[in-house]
Amino acid sequence: MPDDANQKHMAFFKLMDAVNSGQCPVCYQLHVRLQHYFETLLYENVNNREFRAELRAAGGFCSTHAHQLAQYKDGLALAVMHLELIQAARRGVSAPPARSPLAASAQTARRGRRKTAASDGQCPACRVAQQQTESTLQRIRRYADDPQFLAAYTDSAGLCVPHYRLLQQADAPLPDQLVDHQQRILETLVEQTSRFIDAENASFEHRPTLSQHERTVWKQIIDRYYGKSGALP
Ligand SMILES: [Zn+2]
Ligand SMILES: [Zn+2]
Repeated sequence: MPDDANQKHMAFFKLMDAVNSGQCPVCYQLHVRLQHYFETLLYENVNNREFRAELRAAGGFCSTHAHQLAQYKDGLALAVMHLELIQAARRGVSAPPARSPLAASAQTARRGRRKTAASDGQCPACRVAQQQTESTLQRIRRYADDPQFLAAYTDSAGLCVPHYRLLQQADAPLPDQLVDHQQRILETLVEQTSRFIDAENASFEHRPTLSQHERTVWKQIIDRYYGKSGALP
């Protein structure tokens, strides 16, 4: 098999893993990519000059990614990469901590352009997340008509609301099967949410009895409606 065909194959099967993960495939690949990014950063790149310049230009990470990074509890790495930022803040010359430029990134995704990281003061992890999001969405668009993909997709948890919105911004129309499946997922969530509210309403005469799964619908509401934490860089 030629190299590029082999690579396409790899990309396809990685996407299939994401579709079969039980989560939004974009959220899933984003989580895997960021986990790899943070681990590589902590183990190899704390003193990498390019990374440090990017972090300085951004004034640090955005709040979401700073807290994700803190979960690794690598105190020394965090101290080393933040000392110069805190010193600059003390002198009053630092850039404010990086913002998560949601509007700018969505616009960039629509136009298919990429900014250079240091040019816009974007959080370094947001830049990685944005690239991964665009790449997964492109793969879904590329394989949207593939029968194997569609069969797995229509049996999956589908996309979260924000990632489906981004997918819809493609120029080419999406296959009916994919659109219908997204619609069904939201219809089911609406029904489950209404049922949960009825079950919690003490004055409601015919309160439904909920299964264990139905009692945690609020978790699905958050994951479906907002995507996983940090879903939109
Ligand atoms: Zn998502
Ligand atoms: Zn960020």
